[in-house]
Amino acid sequence: MSTPTPTHPTPDAKPTATDATTGTGKPSNFLRQIIEADLANGTYAQRKWGGSPGDAAHHAKGQSDPAKIRTRFPPEPNGYLHVGHAKSICLNFGLARDYGGVCHLRFDDTNPEKEDVEYVNSIRDTIKWLGFDWNGSADAEPYHASDYFDFMYRAAEYLIEAGLAYVDEQSAEQMRANRGDFGKPGVDSPFRGRTPAENLARFREMRDGKHEDGSMVLRAKIDMASPNINLRDPAIYRIRRATHHNTGDKWCIYPMYTYAHPIEDALEQITHSICTLEFEDQRPFYDWLLVRLIEGNLLANPPPRQYEFARLNLTYVITSKRKLAQLVYDHKVEGWDDPRMPTIVGLRRRGYTPAALQLFAERIGVTKSDSWIDYSTLEGCLREDLELKAHRGFAVLNPVKLIMTNWDEVMGAGHLEPCTQPALPNPPQGTEPPPPRHFTIGKEVWIDREDFEEVPPKGYKRLFPPSIDGNGNAVAGNKVRLKGGYVIECTGCNKDAAGTITEVLATVVPDTKSGTPGSETVKVKGVITWVGVADGVNAEVRMYDRLFLDAQPDAGGKDFIENLNPNSLKVMTAIVEPSLANAEAGQQFQFERHGYFVADRVDHVTGSKPVFNLAVGLKDGWGK
Ligand code: ATP
Ligand code: MG
Repeated sequence: MSTPTPTHPTPDAKPTATDATTGTGKPSNFLRQIIEADLANGTYAQRKWGGSPGDAAHHAKGQSDPAKIRTRFPPEPNGYLHVGHAKSICLNFGLARDYGGVCHLRFDDTNPEKEDVEYVNSIRDTIKWLGFDWNGSADAEPYHASDYFDFMYRAAEYLIEAGLAYVDEQSAEQMRANRGDFGKPGVDSPFRGRTPAENLARFREMRDGKHEDGSMVLRAKIDMASPNINLRDPAIYRIRRATHHNTGDKWCIYPMYTYAHPIEDALEQITHSICTLEFEDQRPFYDWLLVRLIEGNLLANPPPRQYEFARLNLTYVITSKRKLAQLVYDHKVEGWDDPRMPTIVGLRRRGYTPAALQLFAERIGVTKSDSWIDYSTLEGCLREDLELKAHRGFAVLNPVKLIMTNWDEVMGAGHLEPCTQPALPNPPQGTEPPPPRHFTIGKEVWIDREDFEEVPPKGYKRLFPPSIDGNGNAVAGNKVRLKGGYVIECTGCNKDAAGTITEVLATVVPDTKSGTPGSETVKVKGVITWVGVADGVNAEVRMYDRLFLDAQPDAGGKDFIENLNPNSLKVMTAIVEPSLANAEAGQQFQFERHGYFVADRVDHVTGSKPVFNLAVGLKDGWGK
């Protein structure tokens, strides 16, 4: 076997987010450039695939790898995925899809804490919902890092025998002190000079439970004077008596993440191992380890390469599982899927679509330097997607009754006139328009309070009553069109003892029904939405605002709990048109003039009333 080259192609090329597109038709970026160069150079063309993860011998027996590249998404199953993970998922699964590759879902469960099935199932569902499958098939089993413990142990014994690892019995404090710092080289451990035979015996004692937790560790033997502190003999195995959800009590020693991760990648024949920037300093150890294990014929050549990209930072959003968990456990939100949460289950309940999140990931691109993405970018992606897809509907969020006083006389007592409106005014090209919406108009309708002004501000085009202007001239009440219905003329209003308007009064103008001949002869400047009193349906509408007051809620050690927006949720009783009454949970709508809403599940709190969550307003209210 030839010795693998430890050199890296430098992934420092500036990202060209918009000026170049790759053969995939997607905007190029430094990762796409690296992959395209690897494909052009045949870097991975000779690789074999043994049909499952495995060591060098296993893959050598396999066929030539049908996957041109292999990427992976390796979550720790200790929480729900958030919008930052969505970026990583779209990136890793998207690159595999675009370049004839496969992306592995691997649960990184090397920590012997209990893996929670709740998290495991949610992660699987979320990835599927985002539109991806893993390991090349929609129903493949995900991989588990803990399945590789046997190999990791074998590799550790190999390193010991090759003189590349030793058991260190210094205390944690001694080890820390002897590691040195940026200005000071480390000091060799007194145990560094042990023979491989001594180390092997000690390591086996560690494995066999002969030593206390924390009493010794296995360290890679590299260079205590390295300018990269990660190469100053990093710990690779520790003693920890803990029952593992997968391997039970088989092990009382567990590999460290920095040791486990490159091995997991190599066993799975990953070609491009993409991680966030904080792992950049670990890359030399990643390479060091894989080169040694390939030299020992334990792992297949060529090794995977690690590339780093900037994690997503989104304004007004926290993307730390630990902090999100605190919001849930302290009851600051209603759960992991509270529509204000940046978890993917939360975004989903907020009305986000897979297409919107994929568009977002594409639009923000990948770069090599940290920055903050404005929340309005995320909202813009949702608006763009829903504009084309969300069926329209009328909803009155702050209702007041409007009475057409001449209705019985002009239209007939109790008459209800059927009306229709398109569900999608501009259906996507080449698609059948969905069936129109049906509702009725009668003597009484609900309108939004904001659509009537007793004393109209200058330029107001909606309903106002007749008045006398400053020169003593009579000004007629204003005419508006009830969208999809009739033109009406405002005649006044009724109030209660406190002066609150209880009813708006108007007359209907006959022969002006939308869509009938001659209906346009009466000109109006304003059009308002409305819902019939006869067929309107009460609904609960939840108006959400940003969860935090500051754009960077947890920056600089700020207490993010102190930073919660007390007005992030306002619950209203609205009245919606009948077509919305039986909306299925998850269905998005545009409430005309109000914004995009998504039907939520109906629960015991709301009784039988349909519930709608505000997904995003019609216009950008965050960028300003
Ligand atoms: P947290 O710190 O919130 O627990 P994590 O990085 O530990 O997050 P993992 O489950 O280990 O969470 O992450 C799985 C993958 O998701 C990793 O490859 C990680 O790089 C990626 N990831 C996590 N957060 C972000 C983010 N904000 N932006 C981009 N990628 C992310
Ligand atoms: Mg992690």
